Amino acid sequence: MTNLTRRTFGLATTAAGLALAAPSVLHAQTSARLVVIGGGFGGASAARYARMAFPRLAVTLIEPQTSFVTCPYGNLLLAGERTLPQITHSYEGLKARGVRLVHDWAEAIDATARTVRLRNGQNVPYDKLILSPGIAIRWNAIEGYGEAAAETFPHAWIPGTGAQTALLRRQLEALPDGGVVGFAIPPNPFRCPPGPYERISMVASYLKAHKPRAKILALDAKDAFSKQGLFQDAWNELYPGMIEWVPLNKDGKVTRVDAREKQFETELGSRHRIDVGNVIPPQSAAKIAIDAGLTNETGWVPVNPLTFEATRARDIHVIGDANIGQPMPKSGYIANSTSKVAVAAAVAALEGRPAPAPTVYFNTCYSHVGPEYGISVVGIFRPGETAFVETANAGGVSPRGPLAEQREHRRLEALHADAWYGAITKDAFS
Ligand SMILES: Cc1cc2nc3c(=O)[nH]c(=O)nc-3n(C[C@H](O)[C@H](O)[C@H](O)COP(=O)(O)OP(=O)(O)OC[C@H]3O[C@@H](n4cnc5c(N)ncnc54)[C@H](O)[C@@H]3O)c2cc1C
Repeated sequence: MTNLTRRTFGLATTAAGLALAAPSVLHAQTSARLVVIGGGFGGASAARYARMAFPRLAVTLIEPQTSFVTCPYGNLLLAGERTLPQITHSYEGLKARGVRLVHDWAEAIDATARTVRLRNGQNVPYDKLILSPGIAIRWNAIEGYGEAAAETFPHAWIPGTGAQTALLRRQLEALPDGGVVGFAIPPNPFRCPPGPYERISMVASYLKAHKPRAKILALDAKDAFSKQGLFQDAWNELYPGMIEWVPLNKDGKVTRVDAREKQFETELGSRHRIDVGNVIPPQSAAKIAIDAGLTNETGWVPVNPLTFEATRARDIHVIGDANIGQPMPKSGYIANSTSKVAVAAAVAALEGRPAPAPTVYFNTCYSHVGPEYGISVVGIFRPGETAFVETANAGGVSPRGPLAEQREHRRLEALHADAWYGAITKDAFS
């Protein structure tokens, strides 16, 4: 693959793949340009893998932050079991691999001219673009929940600088014993399906140790959730009487928040007084994907399941949470593994070859629910003609059963989760 050059790209587009046979092309000097927007799980993994697998490719990563705070393990920070530096990763490893880092916002994409305009006004040209900008909050989808209200009721659902997660942690520390922690949980699809329930568990773990009379009120816009039986078993055993989960059919959908009065209001008009509130609002693909016209009426980006190329623009491959990947979850695991498929497909197209043969997409989502207590869900997916397809009877969840019987299993899964976190952050950022 070391023969990927601007010249091969130019020839490939005009001579449909015959270009690779020409020996002179192999020695052409200028590299093809892969630009990646977003240095999170999808984008950092794509940039790293592109440099490793295709060393002649010129790779530029556009990301405003100078280091990346992960959402995974942010819930452990809320429990006091991790610090911000422990979940923060630098881009030095990618730089050492020859990725050119541009720390700025991508403001606009011109899919015809194949350029990305930065906030500083400069244009970055590309031959192929990989877009992994994550999610945007749908501000005011819940009445009263705009950016100002997020300073009272943090969402802590987009990594940024980690400020939102740190704010929620400080609020929990200041909560009086006997206070109420409220959660507003969105409908599907949203980033990290088990994430809210891991967060409830980690907050409960902290409260049990430090404020045992506090209560958790979890108001949900759904009637069912990921690993539900496992989570609820754990809540009953570890935190009896502390967590009340209210599903949609019991008026669980929060439709309005009042940050000044510190209240959550539901669809049927019930008002709940909250001392600390975590609002996880409805979401969409990040703004840059919407502005570029890549999203459809759902707010997410439709893609070709084999190549991740956006169906609405050529030469732009959209990976991670921003795309329509269902039934695959919006997870760091999927963002990381599919990034490699997208890079391989983009390079194949540059070289005039067909996309690599269909592959299998794996996902494992671990959740911590208490000290030395981990659970997981595994899914196996394949690209179909127009959508992704889950392979029946191939995945599954951890076995249920009382802690007395499952203690060793839970302990090992917590260790596997730690190992997964170490491995995936290395695979994205080292
Ligand atoms: C509490 C919580 C726990 C989670 N736990 C897990 C877990 O245990 N396992 C798991 O697999 N997943 C987990 N996830 C999900 C995981 O964090 C996401 O699925 C993953 O981050 C998606 O990767 P991404 O590349 O799409 O987006 P991100 O990782 O969010 O990266 C997007 C990047 O794009 C940048 N960006 C955005 N707009 C622009 C722009 N215009 N120009 C330039 N850069 C831009 C952002 O600054 C950001 O760095 C969790 C999520 C949450 C909220």
